[in-house]
Amino acid sequence: MNETPVIAVRDLTKTYAVGEIEVRALRGISLEIPRGQFVALTGPSGSGKSTFMHLAGCLDRPTSGMYVLNGRDVSRLSKRDLSLVRNHEIGFVFQGFNLLPRTSAIENVELPMLYGKPVPAKERRRRAAEALEQVGLGSRLDHHPNQLSGGQQQRVAIARALVNKPSLLLADEPTGNLDSRTSIEVMGIFQRLNQEQGITVLLITHEMDIAEYGTRIVAFRDGQVVTDRPVREQRIAEDELLAWDSLRAERADDDPTTQPSAGPA
Ligand code: ADP
Repeated sequence: MNETPVIAVRDLTKTYAVGEIEVRALRGISLEIPRGQFVALTGPSGSGKSTFMHLAGCLDRPTSGMYVLNGRDVSRLSKRDLSLVRNHEIGFVFQGFNLLPRTSAIENVELPMLYGKPVPAKERRRRAAEALEQVGLGSRLDHHPNQLSGGQQQRVAIARALVNKPSLLLADEPTGNLDSRTSIEVMGIFQRLNQEQGITVLLITHEMDIAEYGTRIVAFRDGQVVTDRPVREQRIAEDELLAWDSLRAERADDDPTTQPSAGPA
């Protein structure tokens, strides 16, 4: 077993200069995320979650402190080296899906393979189709985003995040634009990827009920960690979806308008 944590940060700070004012978005975060964990990062708006995600995702560099990703210190890398690390190690999923609109699902998923080490076109197709199958969209390869529901678009985004086989999946409010049932479906995908493939997930959410699909909850306030605890009773998306469906079936049974005798034949 590989004991090197995926993420190890120590005394991480980030200060933004806004005119004359300094905004201390992160004030010394120390945290380790071992391989295979599903961590939900929560906290009120302005607590530093997105700033942390930017640093963890190698999109930005800290003001001070250390960030070791899979055993490699990435705190002081150049922008170019950071982008190489990012492309290899990290898959991103955002609230707004961020798909290219006039591009099919499979082409959207192929995109990350166009950067970095060249992958032959046939292999790109194969890997993109495989990733879409993993998220249950094997029959929608040629659909464009506007032909897909919000939940399906988020699945395409998850497939795109997975296609380079990252060691870390970073999801920033991935259910923010989705209804309740679709949110559970998307959380079910993250849980499956985490449990079956051991993919490490860092999920940012301000919703406590979404955080409980994870195995550990870290809460930020004012740029600091205020709580860090395992989830005692993890919500299991697959069970909830089954319960949801059987409840709906029961309701339909009880609803006189759905009974054959309710109206004229
Ligand atoms: P959260 O994601 O928890 O809402 P953020 O990380 O977005 O928190 O913000 C933390 C603090 O840093 C806030 O006070 C926010 O206004 C500030 N901040 C975030 N990004 C920037 C930026 N690019 N420039 C200046 N201030 C920023």
